[in-house]
Amino acid sequence: MSHFKKTALLLSSMNETTKHQGQRRQLIESLRTKGIESESVLKAMLAVPRHLFMDPSLINFAYEDNAYPIAAEQTISQPYTVAFQSELLAVSETHKVLEIGTGSGYQTAVLLGLSTQVFTIERQQALFKQTQRLFSQLGYRPKKHLFGDGYKGLPTEAPFDRIIVTAGAPQVPKALLNQLAIGGKLVIPIGDKEQIMTRFIRTSKVSFDKEEFGRFRFVPLLENKN
Ligand code: SAH
Repeated sequence: MSHFKKTALLLSSMNETTKHQGQRRQLIESLRTKGIESESVLKAMLAVPRHLFMDPSLINFAYEDNAYPIAAEQTISQPYTVAFQSELLAVSETHKVLEIGTGSGYQTAVLLGLSTQVFTIERQQALFKQTQRLFSQLGYRPKKHLFGDGYKGLPTEAPFDRIIVTAGAPQVPKALLNQLAIGGKLVIPIGDKEQIMTRFIRTSKVSFDKEEFGRFRFVPLLENKN
C-alpha cells in the first residue's frame, strides 16, 4: 500500500474515533440533563464505544438515546436505562457484581468501568458467542461470562454485592434475592408488558427493603429455555 493511502486510511479511522468521541460526550451531557447524577457512571459510559456493540447496520444510531435490535431478537438497552440502572446499583470498585442478560455486552462494559469483579450470564447462544468474541477483541475481561439461565443466578459464586437484571421479569426470582450479600442491592425491572424498575436491598438474612422507580420496557427474562 502506498504511503499516501496508508496515511489517508489512518486519518479516516482517526476521524471516525474523534467523531464518535464527540457524539459520546453529547450523549453523556444529555443523560445529565435527563437527571443522571452519578459521576462514576457518566465517566464509565463516556469510556465505552457503544458503536462497537451495535448491529453494524445501525452503527450510525449508536449515540442516540434509544434501544436498538441486536441478534436473536434481543435489544441493546437505551443508554438512559443503562445509566439509570447503574446509578441505582451504586457500584464501587471492590464489589462483586452479577449481571443477568449480557445481550450486546454494552451494560457489561459499563459495569467493568465501575468494578473489577463482574460476572455475566446470557441465555441466547448466538449472542453469547458474538459477545465473547467482542469482549476479547476490545480487551474487556469479566471474571466470568457464562452461557446459561440467569434466572437461577450463579450459586457457585454467591454472595454478590450487586445484582442487575437487564430483562423484564414477571416477578423477582427468589434465587437472586438469596444470592445477595447482606447490604447488597438487586436492581431489576418487574412486570410483563411494561416493567417497574425495582431495587431490593438485603437488610438481614431474612429481610429486604424494596423501592420502586418508574416505568421501563425490556425484552422478557425467560426461564428454563436453554
Ligand atoms: N444489557 C443488555 C440488554 C440486552 S436485552 C444490553 O445492553 O445489550 C436482555 C438480555 O437478557 C437478552 O440478551 C436476553 O437473551 C437475556 N436473557 C433473557 N432471559 C435470560 C435468562 N433467563 N438468563 C440470562 N439471560 C437472559
